[in-house]
Amino acid sequence: MNQARNFADSLLRACGEVILCSNRASGFFFLLALAVLAPNMAGGVLLGVVAATLTALLLREPDVLVRRGYYGYNAVLLGILWPFLWEASLTTTLLMVPAACSTALIVALHRRMNLWEKLRLPVLCLPALLMVALPGLAPFGPATSAWIEAPLRVIPFEWTPLLQILLVFGAILFAVAIHSRTLALLGLAGAALGTGLGNLVSSEPGILPSLHLFTSASAAMALGGYFVRPGRASIVYAAVGIGAAVLLWPQTVPFLVAAGIPAYSVPFLVISLLFLYPLQAGLLDETKTGLHPVYADIAVDPLYWKGRESVSGEIDRIESLAKTIAECGEGTVALTGAGISTESGIPDIVHGYWAKYNPDDFAFDNFVSKPSSRQSYWSMSEELYTFIRNARPGAGHRSLRDLEHLGCLGRIVTQNVDGLHQETGHRENRVIELHGTEHVIRCLDCGKRSSRNEITRRLRQDIRIPYCFDCRGILKTDATLDGEPVSIPLWKETCRTIMDARLLLVVGTSLRIPAIAELVERAAKGGTKVAIISLGPTPSDRVAQFIFRTPIRDILPHLVRRVRALQPKTPLATAHKLLALR
Ligand SMILES: [Zn+2]
Repeated sequence: MNQARNFADSLLRACGEVILCSNRASGFFFLLALAVLAPNMAGGVLLGVVAATLTALLLREPDVLVRRGYYGYNAVLLGILWPFLWEASLTTTLLMVPAACSTALIVALHRRMNLWEKLRLPVLCLPALLMVALPGLAPFGPATSAWIEAPLRVIPFEWTPLLQILLVFGAILFAVAIHSRTLALLGLAGAALGTGLGNLVSSEPGILPSLHLFTSASAAMALGGYFVRPGRASIVYAAVGIGAAVLLWPQTVPFLVAAGIPAYSVPFLVISLLFLYPLQAGLLDETKTGLHPVYADIAVDPLYWKGRESVSGEIDRIESLAKTIAECGEGTVALTGAGISTESGIPDIVHGYWAKYNPDDFAFDNFVSKPSSRQSYWSMSEELYTFIRNARPGAGHRSLRDLEHLGCLGRIVTQNVDGLHQETGHRENRVIELHGTEHVIRCLDCGKRSSRNEITRRLRQDIRIPYCFDCRGILKTDATLDGEPVSIPLWKETCRTIMDARLLLVVGTSLRIPAIAELVERAAKGGTKVAIISLGPTPSDRVAQFIFRTPIRDILPHLVRRVRALQPKTPLATAHKLLALR
């Protein structure tokens, strides 16, 4: 039941994402508007988004991203563009299914290659455009020029094109307004400006006015309030973006159409990228331009549009934390937990994914005394290790490494056992693995340590419980089990590191282990400043100077950019900043 609701959630949010509102209600009304105006288009959209979402689930993409509609988004776009390319028939509709699955595949690949964070855009329509352009480029493909001559032939009503366009536009604006009236107003103003300017510069009748209407509205929404904080500067910024796009379109549209690429979204994408990239990459000074980038996760949150003050507060708090980090330099210590690795696709031990296992089997006493617990432990450990083997460091891991390289992070204490911090390239002995590591196997009797690959090989040969070859003792991974004593020297080193910190960055942990929460509080009493970045509350919230409930991948890279901007400006540092666009 819950799963079905989550699935429906993903579908509707994907529909909403196309109009920059990752919101179920907006998605629903957008779909409804499509269904009233062009039932076949709405049907195609639904078919595509179901196929793409199922693909993402099969690829085991992170639930949180699937539910946001990241994978369905491109399929929705595809469903809208498809009828413009092909005559409506059962065959062409079914042909869309593999194309929709491919868009999800491209998005998943894009995420795994970490292009996502580098581009700093929430979802790109590139996969959808690619899928639409491919048949257009093929010699046996459809007559691609047809769609520009009959832009709305899929709509069965016999109204004048202008009325049809206004009706579609009005319905979409309504769906946007459910999410945010500011965003809808920006869209309306942008459409007016774009259409006016478009008529001034272009003498071509027909399709161009409506092109200007749709792309100007989306450019105004994106540049004026979605990717940046709405304000006087953002309105000027959006107006300049629309002006540039209007001047660009008459030159680019014929090329795009000839290449089979629907011009509706390309100008919007190009303008967004050209204008946003320097801003999101931190190349433009926010304090001088007055333009503050909005993190994608905040922008899609309906609460953001209800109380924008909290976000302006958030930006000021990030700036203030960046200053504290720069001041504390190597006195900054990070304490990390599962949250930083869930963003790399490793399911958190306390959450639903592992529910099929009985936690009692992973209590140290049971592990030592019961062979059945050991067998269950090994099957769980191998499953976990499959995730670990495939995981790559995420934006959070890389940001901490960048902080270290900037001289603004002394050490990392991690409760994770995946080795992802080390994989990003920290200096020697900077990472304390408080709970050990899944990469190493240890014999509980003779203490011999061996490599993980050897055990994996034996487990794959259907050996359910491996024993030590040397002494027949009990083997276990080096990761600490519940109730297993942590090595005393390691715990002492952890205590010293945390107590001596000038600033403690608590990242992606809910501090549910009492000893660690207590340590954080003792450090805070001793004068250590505490910053907590965690999606849920922690027992140490009351001693923290900074609390962020933002996803790590959104906040840490931004923090690093602000810390880097605060570094002394030498010619070499400037060159480094220009080269390292991360
Ligand atoms: Zn042994």
